[in-house]
Amino acid sequence: MGEHGTGLDWEVRLDEMLDSLGTAQRTRPLLYALPAALFGCDPREAGNLSARAATAAFLGGQHSDHAPVTENVRGGLESLAWSLATDLHLARIRPDTGVVRVRENGSDYELVDTTGEVTRVEAVVFAVPPPVTAEIAGSLDGLRELGTTLTAFPYRQVDYALHRDPVGMPDRREHWSTNNLTLGEGYSETTVWYGPVHGVDVFRSQVSRRARQPTKVLARESFRQLLPTTEVVRAQRRLGGCAADEEGHGGPERRSAGLFQ
Ligand SMILES: Cc1cc2nc3c(=O)[nH]c(=O)nc-3n(C[C@H](O)[C@H](O)[C@H](O)COP(=O)(O)OP(=O)(O)OC[C@H]3O[C@@H](n4cnc5c(N)ncnc54)[C@H](O)[C@@H]3O)c2cc1C
Repeated sequence: MGEHGTGLDWEVRLDEMLDSLGTAQRTRPLLYALPAALFGCDPREAGNLSARAATAAFLGGQHSDHAPVTENVRGGLESLAWSLATDLHLARIRPDTGVVRVRENGSDYELVDTTGEVTRVEAVVFAVPPPVTAEIAGSLDGLRELGTTLTAFPYRQVDYALHRDPVGMPDRREHWSTNNLTLGEGYSETTVWYGPVHGVDVFRSQVSRRARQPTKVLARESFRQLLPTTEVVRAQRRLGGCAADEEGHGGPERRSAGLFQ
């Protein structure tokens, strides 16, 4: 049991959990396939994932016998960000503008952005991926010593395509499911069939590594996906620890580091 008795500790690796269950090595490639697809890694790397992070999305949680409930926000998740933004009356929102540098100026901070504008602020909250924080603010006093921790988060590029040809679907239509997995040498990729839900044979596939690629492509998108390894869990805990240590007497950059959890 992990902390607070709520389940497996996040630092237990997936291969360690399977060892403790006596799971045969020959069945592991199959068990690694889903988590590997979810995080876009090679199935041979999946044993290093945090067992709890790797399985949480597929389980109903501690108090449920059911599969997890999922919600699809109408208009996509971005619509949630915009509806929250409409309630921000004092905030100035600058979409499509990145911060390239955060530097100290006396007791304040200066944000240099991609347009070259410099904005002076009293406090900074970092809600960007940890390596980005290291890049844009690594020279701040409070962050310099966190450099190794901030760069301990491995990412994999995952490419997706929305397509009309049934690449990634079983050859026989009676075997089609809404969620399908293609396993190949060093990869495991999903294909989602929207037919049963939307009534059209449109598919969304991971296309980073699969041998057979779709040709009738409607859209493509790429993401950087964090691999939740046990090292990541430890790094998150170190950041959280820094945030707790600094609560009340540290710089704002230190406190905000805990937001990555
Ligand atoms: C394909 C895919 C599907 C997913 N599906 C689900 C799902 O169904 N359910 C779920 O719970 N999670 C899902 N996730 C995971 C979820 O998207 C992440 O856990 C979540 O977005 C992390 O939120 P965040 O605020 O920490 O980071 P992000 O959402 O990455 O937000 C960071 C923001 O910082 C901005 N930024 C970066 N650099 C700068 C800079 N220099 N200056 C200013 N801004 C900057 C970025 O543009 C971005 O908007 C999915 C992830 C992927 C890749």
